[in-house]
Amino acid sequence: MPDKRDYYEVLGVQKGCSDDELKKAYRGLAKKYHPDLNPGDKEAEAKFKEVNEAYEILSDAQKRQKYDQFGFAGVDPSYGAGAGGGFGGFGDMDFDLGDIFGSFFGGGFGGSSRTRNPNGPIRGNAVNAQLNLSFIEAALGCQKEITIQRLERCDTCEGTGAAKGTSPESCSDCSGTGQVRVQQRTPFGVIQTSKTCPKCAGKGKVIKSPCGDCRGMGRIRHTRKIMVNVPAGIDNGQTFVMSGQGDHGMNAGPAGDLNVTVGIRPDPIFERDGFNVWCEVPITFTQATLGDEITVPTIDGKVTYEVPEGTQPGTTFRLRNKGISFVNGRGRGDQYVKVTVEVPKNLNNKQKQALKDFEELANDKNYEKRKGFFEKIKDAMKGED
Ligand code: ZN
Repeated sequence: MPDKRDYYEVLGVQKGCSDDELKKAYRGLAKKYHPDLNPGDKEAEAKFKEVNEAYEILSDAQKRQKYDQFGFAGVDPSYGAGAGGGFGGFGDMDFDLGDIFGSFFGGGFGGSSRTRNPNGPIRGNAVNAQLNLSFIEAALGCQKEITIQRLERCDTCEGTGAAKGTSPESCSDCSGTGQVRVQQRTPFGVIQTSKTCPKCAGKGKVIKSPCGDCRGMGRIRHTRKIMVNVPAGIDNGQTFVMSGQGDHGMNAGPAGDLNVTVGIRPDPIFERDGFNVWCEVPITFTQATLGDEITVPTIDGKVTYEVPEGTQPGTTFRLRNKGISFVNGRGRGDQYVKVTVEVPKNLNNKQKQALKDFEELANDKNYEKRKGFFEKIKDAMKGED
């Protein structure tokens, strides 16, 4: 008997493991070593068979019990029987790996499943695109034209891939199934597996004279300008979907989607925080002191706001419902406006004198913070004594 690893060891599970653990281990390994994912890798192929064999035995309660009791001999009568070369114990075991796999992965995995019809409808792939927007365009939503490349059905051959006047023929090697069966001699007898038909590459059809326009592919890559509707409120790095605007399908399958990922250019005035918008508005020293009606930019345009008398630098006020619309929902965020006070510079003598006159008239009541500050200092000095 050639080297043969314990089935539990093969799947990397404990002897008493549950069916779920077994299944999980099998899935991981089968996926790892699947021939479709490791084309031409003999070692992976061997491992894949080993994994499948182990799972075949251990997932069957009766066989598993026998294996636990008697080892390989319990599940393979020829094991250790000593009959020279008599490794035919499993007979011509015919398990289709594609089928085992298909039942796990919903039949859509790879192309190895025998149940998958190569001539059936195949959905087109998604196409991904990038779109750069201004802050306002993203906040309010907009229509934009973008240029993409996608595969479209070839009009010359109407998607068949065959030259005018001809049509694709069913592949003689696989009878149109796209899969051929391969027999492999193993210590357990001849195991039959199916693999992608090399003649038609799994398509099930052979094109004798290919269409000159699409070189037999049935689809051609086109550059297209597509109008997209950018949803209001989309944020930097988010993706929206234009359904059915991706690659065309094959065999009358549906088209894939167009996924558009948005990049937003920074704005000189606005900044975004979730669905709220922030901006800073500089006001004059006099406006802050006396109060004033100021103009505030919002994403909807300018609005006026009454700054109260004695507004301190850094004061933030809120404009309700002036923020960004909730995507796919009602309502919107708020806008926060932070007031900065600009200290006047380059004063002429007359201006300076006016301020000096004002300062002479000013008293503690005008500068409450400052007064409080110096009182605290005084207290601190006393504490040191
Ligand atoms: Zn064509």
